[in-house]
Order: sequence, then structure tokens, then C-alpha cells
Amino acid sequence: MNFQNLSQESLSQIAQRLRDHGYRVTPQRMAIVEALFASSHPTAEEIHQQISRRFPMVSLATVYKTLRVLTELGIARDLKIGERNRFDGNTDPHAHLICIRCGQITDFPLSSQGVALAEEVEPQGFQMLWYDLEIYGICRQCQAKKGSSPTL
Ligand code: ZN
Ligand code: MN
Repeated sequence: MNFQNLSQESLSQIAQRLRDHGYRVTPQRMAIVEALFASSHPTAEEIHQQISRRFPMVSLATVYKTLRVLTELGIARDLKIGERNRFDGNTDPHAHLICIRCGQITDFPLSSQGVALAEEVEPQGFQMLWYDLEIYGICRQCQAKKGSSPTL
């Protein structure tokens, strides 16, 4: 699932998935889902900040709990990039290109070779939800800036 094309339909599909697993679908929970898909690899704190104007009563702990549920249902991915714990609404197989200067994280679609990993893992009886592949380097914009120093 990709945040750029999250339609009302997929939002209602997510709501249905939550209901099917016995979770209550509240406007607060759906605001967390929307905030996840509206930004690129947000932290729980960033999502909390985004929804706090609409839902000032929602605690950071509630945001974390909801993100945990979304991760367990395969709606989100949990990423540990650098020091920060981030979440990803794109659960299609993809790698991350991470710039060591500006910290920018870009999705990179994986070839069929990368996707084939799942087919090798699943016969072991392990239900694979996602896997991480991080490629570190310097992004195009940072390469263009001469003499800038690393900040990450
Ligand atoms: Zn950069
Ligand atoms: Mn991603």
C-alpha cells in the first residue's frame, strides 16, 4: 500500500480489517492511519503531532499502540533507521535509500529477485510480514551541495 494513492476505498478496507480482528474503529484510530499514509516514514511522535490539533486527547502511547496493531495486521511496517523508530504505510516489497547527510528516506521498488525471498522463507513455516533492506549513501541533492558536512 502506498501513501500516494490511498483512496477512500483502501481506508474503508483498513477499517474493515481492524473490525475483522476485533478492534474498534474510532475516528482517532483512523486519523492515525491517515497521518501514517500522508507522510513519508513518520515517527510515532510525528503522527502524534499531526493529529493532536484534531484529537488533543489522544496520547502518544495510544498512537504507539495503534501503530503496533497496524504493524501486526500487515498494514504498516516498523522501521528502525538510525536512532529513530519509523513507520511505513507502504507494505509492497521495497528497499530504502537513506542519505547519510540529510537523512532523506526514499522508497526503492525491489526486483522480482528481492520478492522471491518471501517464497524461500514461507516454506519454513514462518509467516513473513516484511523485510528490511537499507541502502546508505548520499542523495542527489546532497551531492550537488559541495563542502556540506554530514548531519545525521
Ligand atoms: Zn541528502
Ligand atoms: Mn518505505
